Amino acid sequence: MSDTLSLYKKHLREIGKLNSSLSLLHWDQRTHLPEKGHSARAEVIGKLSKMIFELSISDELGRYLEELEERDDLSERDRASVRVVGREYRRYRAIPPDLFEEFSIARAESETAWEKARAASDFASFLPHLEKMVDYSRRFAEYFGYSENPYDALIEEYEPGMTTAQLREIIAPLKDKLAPFIKHLVDEGTRPHTEFTRGKFPAEKQRELSRRALEAIGYDFTAGRLDTTVHPFTITTGPGDVRITTRFLEDDPFSGLYSSMHEGGHALYDQGIPDELRWTGLDDGASMGIHESQSRMWENMVGRSLPFWRFFSPIISEVFPQFAAASPEEIYRAVNVVEPSLIRVEADEVTYNLHIMLRFELEEGLINGRIAAKDLPELWNEAMERYLGVVPPDDAHGVLQDVHWSGGMFGYFPSYMLGNLYAAQLFAKAKQEIPDLEERFAKGDFSPLLSWLRDKIHRYGRIYDPIDLLKEATGEEPDSGYFINYVVQKYSEIYGL
Ligand code: ZN
Ligand code: ZN
Repeated sequence: MSDTLSLYKKHLREIGKLNSSLSLLHWDQRTHLPEKGHSARAEVIGKLSKMIFELSISDELGRYLEELEERDDLSERDRASVRVVGREYRRYRAIPPDLFEEFSIARAESETAWEKARAASDFASFLPHLEKMVDYSRRFAEYFGYSENPYDALIEEYEPGMTTAQLREIIAPLKDKLAPFIKHLVDEGTRPHTEFTRGKFPAEKQRELSRRALEAIGYDFTAGRLDTTVHPFTITTGPGDVRITTRFLEDDPFSGLYSSMHEGGHALYDQGIPDELRWTGLDDGASMGIHESQSRMWENMVGRSLPFWRFFSPIISEVFPQFAAASPEEIYRAVNVVEPSLIRVEADEVTYNLHIMLRFELEEGLINGRIAAKDLPELWNEAMERYLGVVPPDDAHGVLQDVHWSGGMFGYFPSYMLGNLYAAQLFAKAKQEIPDLEERFAKGDFSPLLSWLRDKIHRYGRIYDPIDLLKEATGEEPDSGYFINYVVQKYSEIYGL
């Protein structure tokens, strides 16, 4: 092994170890940190983040990359590492440091202004900050570079290789089919009964329920743990340590269960990334969208399926005896209610993508200067009416609900939708290749699906870009038809259409 390659790898391991410490501090901050510890912790996190950033943009790393990019004797894995690390390096370096610092300060102010504006449902007070964030993002897009659409340069950070043009193509059939289908369901379908799910469900019991589900789907508790938090997340601190957090609502046993299964899907992905990729720049999901495809698949396609409830209804009845009177079919129906609603994070799997389409159309217009930030509330409400048939009573339940734009995160939203679409496409392929997949679910055996995902997705980490990975796994380009079929079939049956 040449000197440069080993120095390069050593440099990445240093970044990796610092990142691991940072993850642990973040995890602790959001789960166990006592109230009075927060201000000192914020300083430590700030310091560590700065050290990591400096190592990630150092001239030293630039020299290694430059030399390694020229070499033709690297292994496939090393080449992938150089490609992925080099791409991020160039993005970081593209923005002049002064401009980035100015942006970081403006972003902190913007996020604070957004919190206040949302609490007071006062869009006008947030508008000047939002305008600044749009302006910075447009300038960044110019620095990053793009061939067709400045928005492409922003998506790149979350979904390498995805473009606005391709997104439009993916979205078109969804838009045509989904909105009318939802209307059809709500107007003519029979809404499932949910009365029997009401009650009080102590958090400790819910934790046991989540634990049983996570164990069943293959989450390795000797390489992770389950804690509670306000906004659930999954965090990886390093080899053999992938932690899940969840949230339990005392009047709803399913919210916590599905939050655990969602995070469990992310965690299964991270637990499946081989040790050889640790600290090489490749030890993460291929993209936000691919990561989300794993969480959505375990949460919805597995956890909200009838076979899952054939297996799990005796378990929930053991933990909460009130469910003993309900059949697996009844529980299955109750956890699959469709309701056009105002808030994205509370949306069911059928209406969710419409929330994303609306955001995509607005932010793409903002970045291209076709839409002015001041017109957002009106455009938002019009789109809600058109797509979902509901109109927010105020901006707190409309345009102000998400944190992303306040932090200048334009181009992130499509990943959520792609996660749903990729999940459906992968799941269809898995079912085709494993004919008894769902019969096995009904017996509580989820290992065939997990092995399939390990083989097709997890073991590659970031070696492939998302679209290539999906093509390798399914033999096809991203195709929203799989999601449409899945949803139409499942919900037509549930709603008796
Ligand atoms: Zn994740
Ligand atoms: Zn997620």
